[in-house]
Amino acid sequence: MKQTHATLSSKSEVLIEKENKYGAHNYHPLPVVLDKGEGVFVWDVDGKKYYDFLSAYSAVNQGHCHPKIVGAMVKQAQTLTLTSRAFYNDQLGVYEEYVTKYFGFDKVLPMNTGAEAVETALKLCRKWAYEVKGIPENQAEIIVCENNFHGRTTTIISFSNDEAARKSFGPFTSGFIKIPYDNTEALENVLKSNPNIAGFLVEPIQGEAGVYVPSEGYLAKAKALCEAHNVLFIADEVQTGIARTGKLLAVNHENVQADILILGKAISGGVYPVSAVLANNGIMDVIKPGQHGSTFGGNPIAAAVAMAALEVVKDEKLAENAERLGVVLRKGLNEIASRNPLISLVRGKGLLNAIVIDCDEESDLAWEICLKFRDYGLLAKPTHGNKIRLAPPLVITEAQIQDCLAIIEKALNDFK
Ligand SMILES: *Cc1c(COP(=O)(O)O)cnc(C)c1O
Repeated sequence: MKQTHATLSSKSEVLIEKENKYGAHNYHPLPVVLDKGEGVFVWDVDGKKYYDFLSAYSAVNQGHCHPKIVGAMVKQAQTLTLTSRAFYNDQLGVYEEYVTKYFGFDKVLPMNTGAEAVETALKLCRKWAYEVKGIPENQAEIIVCENNFHGRTTTIISFSNDEAARKSFGPFTSGFIKIPYDNTEALENVLKSNPNIAGFLVEPIQGEAGVYVPSEGYLAKAKALCEAHNVLFIADEVQTGIARTGKLLAVNHENVQADILILGKAISGGVYPVSAVLANNGIMDVIKPGQHGSTFGGNPIAAAVAMAALEVVKDEKLAENAERLGVVLRKGLNEIASRNPLISLVRGKGLLNAIVIDCDEESDLAWEICLKFRDYGLLAKPTHGNKIRLAPPLVITEAQIQDCLAIIEKALNDFK
């Protein structure tokens, strides 16, 4: 068991113990128990305030408990919560028009979680491959990238190469070909040699892998190759989308329009599970009544919440803020790195960033550093051992970024 460092209050300890005893041990949380959030801040049960530099894996881009989003949820929750799709409701169509125009697609298929949206995209892609492209039944293959993260269902972990995510969960779903990320040559080779490719599923930046930003031009080139081979370019923007990287979508940095766009997390501002798959009619229309669905997908609360959350992104110019303050954050982090050799690399785009700690992936050092950040009032979590993701809510100000840089440097200096 990893150390918890500073002594926790008995109140925190009691609550952590409850999770330990009654909850499945499928996570290893940083030892801090939160009971309140507002904007860029969260508070623990003892009233201590922290900057949130994880933003619930980029679900809380609009800041914690954004009043406009919470307001929309409360209002809808008091009016109509769930009809199922057996009937129409007065929110869904309005939301569908809003979200499709917002992102520039003909149609949306609403789901709840990111993994469900990825599953939906894979099913849609396969169906398109058989019914439009003309691949023989059961022969379709989808290209994915090494070190991907797309969620936790059995099919999705079938093409993961994270051993912890896969071990003892087989047998796995077939029909996926894995190639190195950020490598258009590998993509082209598979596309050229295999006529049964239906789609290419890619994260525009690999978030869970440690905020791995591909070379400039990668996405545009990959998209062009897909087009040339009549293969669907499927962008998983669950983590990179909704202004996180300094544009509404990370593919916008290279003016790429995905054939299938997958959104989740911040599409609700972190107040409700909402995900979405967007595509144009030529693709989306292959799905007919009864062929796919979800009891909660497209429910009135989700529709009202997502509309409010997307309005906040535009009203508060969150993409512009992420773009501008991302530059400030990385500049500050690089300055710290020049004074402290513990940071071996700073990378990221917009406000999706990571520092790589100079230690191997099995070391506990990044975890220890995150405990120190916590002690000094900033919450972040290591990913893949030696990387620490730094992704605050996009409503953060420049003065707050400077404040956080001071916390980060002070904590790192304790390890010098
Ligand atoms: C978080 C994430 C998912 C899965 O979303 P869940 O809501 O946790 O199922 C899928 N893809 C990417 C890129 C993610 O970051």
